[in-house]
Amino acid sequence: PLDNRIVPPMGMTGPAFIEAAGNLPLRPVLPSISPGYLQKLLPSTPPAKGEPWSEIEKDMERTIMPGITHWQHPKYMAFFAASSTYPGILGEMWAAALTSANFNWICSPAVTELETIVLDWLAQILALPDIFLSKGEGGGVIQGSASEAVVTVMVAARERYVRRQLEREGVTDPDEVEDRACELRGKLVAIASAEAHSSTKKGAIIAGTRFRTIAVHRSNEYALTGDQVRAKIEELKAKGLHTYYLGVTLGSTNTCSVDDFVSIAEVVQEYPDIWIHCDAAYAGSALVLPEYQYLSKQMAFLDSFDMNMHKWLLTNFDASCLYVRKRKDLTDALSITPSYLKNDFTDSGLVTDYRDWQIPLGRRFRALKIWFVLRTWGVEGLQQHIRHHLKLADLFTGLVKGRSDIFRILTPPKFALVVLMVKPKNIQSKLPNVDEGDPRPYQDQQIPIEPDVNDEALQKANEITKEVYAQVDATKEFFLTASVVCGVY
Ligand code: PLP
Repeated sequence: PLDNRIVPPMGMTGPAFIEAAGNLPLRPVLPSISPGYLQKLLPSTPPAKGEPWSEIEKDMERTIMPGITHWQHPKYMAFFAASSTYPGILGEMWAAALTSANFNWICSPAVTELETIVLDWLAQILALPDIFLSKGEGGGVIQGSASEAVVTVMVAARERYVRRQLEREGVTDPDEVEDRACELRGKLVAIASAEAHSSTKKGAIIAGTRFRTIAVHRSNEYALTGDQVRAKIEELKAKGLHTYYLGVTLGSTNTCSVDDFVSIAEVVQEYPDIWIHCDAAYAGSALVLPEYQYLSKQMAFLDSFDMNMHKWLLTNFDASCLYVRKRKDLTDALSITPSYLKNDFTDSGLVTDYRDWQIPLGRRFRALKIWFVLRTWGVEGLQQHIRHHLKLADLFTGLVKGRSDIFRILTPPKFALVVLMVKPKNIQSKLPNVDEGDPRPYQDQQIPIEPDVNDEALQKANEITKEVYAQVDATKEFFLTASVVCGVY
């Protein structure tokens, strides 16, 4: 059965299409069509005359629905949780009805002001350090995706690094500033763990800088440490390269690992020009729970933090919540004000113009759905939602463990993500698994065994796991995600 995410919350009756979402389990999770199917169903030329809505709506079921992968389906277990909710959908509908581009405060003051308020609420819900609240020098802004957030802060990081260096060198002549800035940019490097999401590499490509990774290991739960960060910075320095950006992760894509914030915070004190960004795209939602908020307390050293409400916090795509320690770092890099964007409110300095905190000019009214969601569930409702998913992951792990003749668990449930592999028959080997005798909940357990990629049993397990995955995928009964973690399929 569906949980209560899609059906209207108490006291609301919804349009028929929302109620029909109750039939979702009756549809297949994955479509059974071939590439190009839609070309065959739709005319190749646009309609010369307008058509009645009744005709258009009919075509939804006939042409579009057969090509939909149902991310809200109970058998959808791929990529990440994607929470669509009724209040979130209503927020989208209101925002669509009120469409405006919202780049400056005056474009629609409620849009800007609600965004500041809900992001301050969310920062409190996640127990983020006060530096990220709008009452100080920081604040939050909604971006379209975690990748967009990375590029945005990387550009701010690059420009802050260059600006500080030019100040130190006393370069002020505009031509010289430009030449020297180009030279400096050519020596900059962004660094992150090898388990950081691919958006970090993409961000560095877009920012026009180098990108280097640091290997992490099973024996340390795939976490990046301060010593590793120092070693990489110094290694790059010896080659005449300057680290300007360090990406740390709370909940990596493959295993939901968490970098060692405490040791990294200590080391980066020695490198004050490096911008540190925390990517908590998926697992950041777990910070609603007091038992995870020790991590929030470790974040005061960050320059920026980003989490996607559209992954695990009941808000429809897109709602990536980016916080910065110093909003001036963003606006110094991204604010350009030609005469057509000028107005008295901007000049007064009393308003926020979010165009200066992002890449595009125009922006959607995304704060509305967040407001509806936060009000509908309240902090307690959000906590229940996350706890429920954590319990399901623990239950699932127990079921997998009960078949240790077939499966091995590579990483126990972290933030509700379980990573498993298939055990080859007749092979007695030290493949990783949860500890049979450990009485703690699985999510608190560690797996001591470092898989050896040269081990024959592991290679066999990789092959078999790959084959089983392909077979599950071919049935289209469930949608799972396969990946390779440090040589383990
Ligand atoms: N960071 C992490 C840790 C992720 O797992 C993902 C996507 O799954 C991303 C970033 C990219 O998110 P987005 O699609 O919002 O760019």
